[in-house]
Amino acid sequence: MSKKKPPSVKVKKSSAGLGLYAMEDIKKEAFIIEYIGEKITTDESDRRGGKYLFTLSKDYVIDGKGRTNIARYINHSCRPNSEVEIDEDKWTISVYAKKNIKAGDELTYDYGKEYWNEHIKPYGCKCAKCTEKK
Ligand SMILES: [Zn+2]
Repeated sequence: MSKKKPPSVKVKKSSAGLGLYAMEDIKKEAFIIEYIGEKITTDESDRRGGKYLFTLSKDYVIDGKGRTNIARYINHSCRPNSEVEIDEDKWTISVYAKKNIKAGDELTYDYGKEYWNEHIKPYGCKCAKCTEKK
């Protein structure tokens, strides 16, 4: 998968606060953005806490709270249009398009069960899939 020309994206208001939106059409499987941050140990991440901790491996976590990490604005969805690929050797977290995405669409990926149960379930999931059921 090529990382040569990442598509243009923009932080905008969404149903869940702020979100990250595609500014151009993105083809399925295309690289979108890297989740960047400080690499810390899981012990350190337990000390710090925070919403932008991204588990990289058993021992390491990326703390993506930095302002340059606009991937942190990507919201959770139970029916996401993007997915995350973790490279434990290179210590990178990359977001790829899971399906064809249209300009103007909000980018979402599945945060995983652990995060969902801890941070989303108590407030109710606001993703498109969960809100349409009601
Ligand atoms: Zn949901």
